[in-house]
Amino acid sequence: MNKHYHTVVIGGGCLGAACAFSVQRRLGNKRGKVAIIEKKVLGAGLSSRHSAIVRSANASPMAARMAKIATQYWKNLKPLWGVNIPYEQSGAIWIADNTTGSDSESWATLEQMLQQEGIDFAMLAHRDVMDLSRQALKTVPDEMYYYEPDVLQLDSPQILNAIQTAAKKNRINVLEHCDVIDFELTGQGISALFTSQGKIFAEHVINAAGAWSSELFAGIGLNIPVALEPVYAANFLVSVHDIPEGMPIIADYVNQAYFRRWRGSILHMHQPRSRNVKDIARSFSRTAMNPEGANVIYDALSFNVTHQQLDNYLGKVINRFPKIGKPVYAGGYHSFFDITPDLKFILGADTQFTNLYHCLGAGQALKYAPIFGEIIADLITGDGVILNSIDINEFSIARFSNNDISRYWQTNALKQNSL
Ligand SMILES: Cc1cc2nc3c(=O)[nH]c(=O)nc-3n(C[C@H](O)[C@H](O)[C@H](O)COP(=O)(O)OP(=O)(O)OC[C@H]3O[C@@H](n4cnc5c(N)ncnc54)[C@H](O)[C@@H]3O)c2cc1C
Repeated sequence: MNKHYHTVVIGGGCLGAACAFSVQRRLGNKRGKVAIIEKKVLGAGLSSRHSAIVRSANASPMAARMAKIATQYWKNLKPLWGVNIPYEQSGAIWIADNTTGSDSESWATLEQMLQQEGIDFAMLAHRDVMDLSRQALKTVPDEMYYYEPDVLQLDSPQILNAIQTAAKKNRINVLEHCDVIDFELTGQGISALFTSQGKIFAEHVINAAGAWSSELFAGIGLNIPVALEPVYAANFLVSVHDIPEGMPIIADYVNQAYFRRWRGSILHMHQPRSRNVKDIARSFSRTAMNPEGANVIYDALSFNVTHQQLDNYLGKVINRFPKIGKPVYAGGYHSFFDITPDLKFILGADTQFTNLYHCLGAGQALKYAPIFGEIIADLITGDGVILNSIDINEFSIARFSNNDISRYWQTNALKQNSL
């Protein structure tokens, strides 16, 4: 096989697919072809293991602004992807600690910043929390609550189906079971990719290889700090009378748990990313010791949930939803968040190779997929459609150009509520 493409996207997850759709749409039929190279099948990686929540609250004003735009895109994807995906606008209730010494002030600052960005995010009284959750939730005086009404919940299999349909509609060349192994370099650029299916030439290369990026690009001297943080997701079968239809997503930062109602009578939950710098550093040191690299994601063993973890989650459910009693376990899996040292995504042009672009998440990236695709398409086509109102400097790979990440841990201590 000897192929030439205008743009090759490495990785067929939600971010790679979004980039492919946006670039191909801008190119039209005549200006060149886009290919996705995926070593397994479309959506095989973390893009089939998320909770499909699209929310805007974020500690970075620019990331929040981008999430707000992305939320509008998700509601009407057809102009971008050629397909629409059903969604439910359930809103989200954020629960934070309000005891003495807690970080309640930073939540107030977050509220102010989000409101300046035009994002509806406001404190809720306890009785309003009870009303919104139709008495399902337990509230306690030492907690405070915020409400973000514009949060969407989608369904992950429907997103995957839409990606497959959109790939066909947008005439993307999808090369599945095709592993990118190495790169051919010419001057300051990448001229071709060596893959398990032969050499593929590309004018532009998009790195959407997620957690595999660091190992894939290390061979050409790029330091791309993406590591894996373990996370468990669990589903519990509950009575529809106990968890009311339309219940907002519960982002419980006191119990470290996200809860959402899922396909009727399932309560789905997982823990959020750790904001503790030591935990993040541990995830990076674990990467170095893992002989499987990011392929641990595909290891069947990594789908098991331990009894200890299940007990831990059961405790959180019972604590937060006392009406449920002891819920029925309905399946779960062990997975990983794709994280960067500062929990911010990596987006934009590479600093070393002129035709390479990075589109990498940091644990919460599904929600950004449509806007990331548009931004990368802006960079490649020079159109400037979205980049007129967004500044992506903060997310550039350039912030990690100093190979000594250890210094980074000391200078970028995360705030507790870096959502
Ligand atoms: C439990 C859980 C819940 C989550 N919930 C949410 C949520 O509610 N909302 C949200 O926004 N985000 C959520 N996320 C995060 C979200 O799942 C990820 O951020 C997102 O899926 C990342 O997408 P991606 O396309 O970058 O990566 P991936 O889906 O991992 O795609 C990378 C792809 O690259 C391929 N690849 C790698 N190396 C090569 C190579 N050498 N050659 C060819 N192909 C290669 C892989 O096979 C893979 O398919 C959650 C994550 C988890 C684990």
